[in-house]
Amino acid sequence: MLKVKNLKASIDNKEILKGVDLMVKPGEVHVLMGPNGSGKSTLAQVIAGHPAYKVVSGKCSVDSREITKLTPDKRAKLGIFLGFQHPVEVPGVSVFSFMRKANKNPQSKIQNSKSINIFRDELKKYMSELKLPEDFLRRALNEGFSGGEKKRNEILQMMTLKPKLVILDEIDSGLDVDGLQLVATAIKTFKKNNPRSSFVLITHYARILKYLKADHVHVMVEGRIVESGTGRLATKVEEKGYQVWQTV
Ligand code: ADP
Ligand code: MG
Repeated sequence: MLKVKNLKASIDNKEILKGVDLMVKPGEVHVLMGPNGSGKSTLAQVIAGHPAYKVVSGKCSVDSREITKLTPDKRAKLGIFLGFQHPVEVPGVSVFSFMRKANKNPQSKIQNSKSINIFRDELKKYMSELKLPEDFLRRALNEGFSGGEKKRNEILQMMTLKPKLVILDEIDSGLDVDGLQLVATAIKTFKKNNPRSSFVLITHYARILKYLKADHVHVMVEGRIVESGTGRLATKVEEKGYQVWQTV
């Protein structure tokens, strides 16, 4: 489903990704770990199509379709979703209108009030799974949200959009134990209902793996994936840190 081959990418002429290889098959859960500044978020942004990053060389395809030249909206239509590490606050845009816009299919007539109500009901169901309050839909997107609410709002988007490739950048950072459990359970339910969707979870901690089983764990250091393995690799990282892979 996702194939990244010898991907090199830069920002402001500074090379961040120095040849990344990653292959994610349908239904798989991949965990990406690595020290701060190793390029994990950069990889996520490059796959999602952030215009500030320049792909210098290499390939990136989804379902055999090369995506490196596509705009972010085209990639989203192909089913790529990125849950941000730092979601942006958008004053004046309510959570509801944002979700409705994001889910708008030009062919469908979501404008008609019946389908709006169906959509609102669906949102409310997901919100209760995430223990988000009813008035959440009326609030301005991410404005004044707690860290946990921002993260759960990213998961809410995932639940409504039902992407094929879900990339979650540090979804577990800033969540307390209960929040983490809620998010992990929501991901599990989503996975069960969408068995062909794949996940790339960027994280610093093995703790989310208590709730979710990873098929592959990768360690990224200085713009490269330096080791891949199973859940045990995540435990090793937590115990020993990244020194064994670091050159400086
Ligand atoms: P990680 O997510 O692994 O912590 P990032 O991908 O955020 O790492 O960052 C990798 C490197 O790229 C860092 O050295 C960071 O300073 C640099 N970088 C990321 N975004 C930018 C940017 N917009 N401008 C300049 N440098 C950036
Ligand atoms: Mg990051």
